[in-house]
Amino acid sequence: MEAVAITPDLITDANKHSSNENQLKISGLSKTYHNGFRALNNVNLTLSNGMFGLLGPNGAGKSSFMRSLATLQTFDNGNIIFNGEDSQANPDAIRKCLGYLPQEFGVYPKMSAVQLLDYLAVLKGVTDKTIRKKQIDYLLALTNLTAHKNKAVANYSGGMKQRFGIAQALLGSPKLLIIDEPTAGLDPAERNSFHNILSDIAEKMIILLSTHIVEDINNLCPKMAILNAGEICFQGEPQALINTLQSRLWRKTISKNELEQVQQQYELLSVRLKNGCYQIRLVSDINPGHGFTPVEADLEDAYFHTLKQQQR
Ligand code: ADP
Repeated sequence: MEAVAITPDLITDANKHSSNENQLKISGLSKTYHNGFRALNNVNLTLSNGMFGLLGPNGAGKSSFMRSLATLQTFDNGNIIFNGEDSQANPDAIRKCLGYLPQEFGVYPKMSAVQLLDYLAVLKGVTDKTIRKKQIDYLLALTNLTAHKNKAVANYSGGMKQRFGIAQALLGSPKLLIIDEPTAGLDPAERNSFHNILSDIAEKMIILLSTHIVEDINNLCPKMAILNAGEICFQGEPQALINTLQSRLWRKTISKNELEQVQQQYELLSVRLKNGCYQIRLVSDINPGHGFTPVEADLEDAYFHTLKQQQR
């Protein structure tokens, strides 16, 4: 078989003559479902090339947001402008530039990876057979599936299916890649390999990654937003979020027996189980005393704090 050099240019061939800089601007996006549930409320975000993390608890509205961006569902108010094109007025303009990896793929047909990629590439408008073959070979290599390309995707492991998901999402040279909860169910090695693939391609396009896993954002995303109950409650750099807790976070280790009483006494930010004891954390502008010591905040602390503040 002819060797294919692994170069990201292969998947961006179609963009060669246009600028590599992309912009996605979402203004005032709101969505209420037929049952009256308001899943998105006045969401405003502007994204450019690179990885952008959308973090939020289950039920926050992340999938609703992603589906609206992917033009798979309508919204009531607001607009989505991608590289100057309005997604409602001209949905095909955004669809042409879009790669989408949904949370659930449903059932895979009994086709091999290479057959399925070929089929999907045609649907995505990659009609030239030579370009199609080059792209597919490149994407199979990128996602480390070349050795398994003739096996049925239906029989792949969870991690392989997820890597296949990325390969199919990158067909047709997308400029906007939307990935919904990508690492749920992956083991640490699979997650790591998935992260490596994403960081390899992030410069060339906008990658929007939705997750409830703080660590995924920490590892991958220079910019992020928090979505909670359909509203954006933070957007910016993860470090800026962490800085909001600078010199305000305190910790103490307590035994199991003390937990109930301490929970009544203080409004705790978190309780983490460590070596059979509980490490409790709280936010306070002044030293709470009683054995609490200062601790550097991490992204998880700052995320929990933001959610709690919004609940209030
Ligand atoms: P997330 O992806 O953050 O878990 P979703 O966007 O899936 O959040 O859901 C947000 C909220 O909208 C949830 O409370 C969910 O039950 C509700 N929801 C999602 N889809 C529908 C629908 N088709 N009809 C009614 N409610 C929905």
